[in-house]
Amino acid sequence: MTYVPAGNRYERMEYRRCGASGLKLPRISLGLWHSFGDDRSYESKALICRTAFDHGITHFDLANNYGPPPGASESAFGEILRRDFRGYRDELVVSSKAGYDMWPGPYGEWGSRKYLIASCDQSLKRLGLDYVDIFYSHRFDPDTPLEETMGALDHIVRSGRALYVGISSYNSRRTRQAAEILKELGTPLVIHQPAYNILNRWVDRDGLKDTLAELGLGCIAFSPLAQGMLTLKYLKGIPPGSRASEDRFLAREKITPDLGERIAGLNEIAKSRGQSLAQMAIAWVLRDGVTSALIGASRPEQVADSCGALENTLFTEAELASIDALKPAHDETLWASSSEGV
Ligand code: NAP
Repeated sequence: MTYVPAGNRYERMEYRRCGASGLKLPRISLGLWHSFGDDRSYESKALICRTAFDHGITHFDLANNYGPPPGASESAFGEILRRDFRGYRDELVVSSKAGYDMWPGPYGEWGSRKYLIASCDQSLKRLGLDYVDIFYSHRFDPDTPLEETMGALDHIVRSGRALYVGISSYNSRRTRQAAEILKELGTPLVIHQPAYNILNRWVDRDGLKDTLAELGLGCIAFSPLAQGMLTLKYLKGIPPGSRASEDRFLAREKITPDLGERIAGLNEIAKSRGQSLAQMAIAWVLRDGVTSALIGASRPEQVADSCGALENTLFTEAELASIDALKPAHDETLWASSSEGV
């Protein structure tokens, strides 16, 4: 059956301008890092994307290496664009990235012009698109001059492969340098994508949100649920089919009794706010200086639950202090900044 998007989708979502740019992003965006590989059916992937669009999520975030295998998520989303979202391309913001390990040899990762431009072309082919809306440098490369990496992003825009460019996981110092180089080249940097959630505060330690505000950049915070740890799913062990059960990007050893106690405490605060823990965690990320929370989902019901976060995004000082009291001494994360210093 032909998919027809919900008629009230734009009434269900808020949109915020991305920094000083003209681009508006939904307060909640969907990432396709997990659950979009060749190990899942077309129908399960399409249902997640349809549910997202029905809730007003217009922004879908990808990268060259999302799968498994690498590239599979872009191919899957390309098929969804052709079969389900045909006719809606101009209502969507599609992003991709290059920076992590993608193909063998010296030209398949990091930040060279050689890699970024070739990878962008491969992504466009898999997605079946002429251009992506946002193309990112996925991580800072200490061995390539930043001028070269930013020059490649500038070329990607000038050659029509992308409309806007962004960077991911750069610290404040490197973000300032990247923004300055791109400004001189005439292609403004519009967005930064860092990891940020209640259990991972590197952004606050770095002062990144102040830097982004000063530079007029938008901020899209990834893994707002700490890959699922900020939900109730791990309160009684590791359920089959969960991300921790795969023991790849979320190691089983991260699911400790100490985490369980913190989650139970956070859940009490969420309940007093009339929210699920996932909703409170997303609302917390959105509270100041963040344009959009970039969620993941393995089922459509999770997308619907997460969108409910927007019903209560205000926190009292007392609630914020109680949440802070439950954060671990060390960040629970795979990611901090990919540049030196934080
Ligand atoms: P996340 O929102 O922190 O975690 C998503 C996981 O949480 C889901 O797969 C699901 O786990 C669980 N979940 C989601 N909603 C739930 C709900 N309402 N109730 C209970 N459980 C729920 O985000 P993420 O998947 O780690 O990352 C999101 C996106 O950020 C990625 O897809 C990608 O686009 C981006 N990202 C970017 C980078 C970068 O370097 N730039 C790195 C990582 C991610 P189960 O699968 O266990 O059900």
